[in-house]
Amino acid sequence: MLTLTIPRQILDDMVAEARALAPHECCGLLAGKAGQVTHHYKIKNIVATEGGDAANFDEAKLAHLQRLAPEERADIAFVMDAREQSLALKDMRTRNLDLQIIYHSHPHSPSRPSVTDIQNATEFESIRKVLNLAEPLHLIISLEKPTSPVMNAFRITSGEVTKVGYRSS
Ligand SMILES: [Zn+2]
Repeated sequence: MLTLTIPRQILDDMVAEARALAPHECCGLLAGKAGQVTHHYKIKNIVATEGGDAANFDEAKLAHLQRLAPEERADIAFVMDAREQSLALKDMRTRNLDLQIIYHSHPHSPSRPSVTDIQNATEFESIRKVLNLAEPLHLIISLEKPTSPVMNAFRITSGEVTKVGYRSS
């Protein structure tokens, strides 16, 4: 797999977004071509939205989420707004870009995938095969140390997590 290059401006924007949404998690997609990230798509995290979007959850999960305070809800997971996600993927197709990165923030925890993150990534694997998308990396912005954010990228395939380096430009 090609080493990705991410513009410094996009990295800075993601940190700013993570800080603005804390204690909720932010999430989004990065896309580009031939290992160069060029486009940044911010996607709404519906778990952080009051009430959530019932259509995206099974009943047990929804009932559990509704018992939690918004902060607790944001902390356990992120779920991308399905409509915004599909518009972003459509825009990538129009521009002939590859989905390269799926990112989200960890307001209080380290920059490594949680059990839920690994499950979500594994679920996305089957979807992306149907959609015929390239394999994206998963990037996690950690604000555990507020003044020094950490952004690690990972490959997650079949439940296996491997840290992957990237360049900034
Ligand atoms: Zn996470």
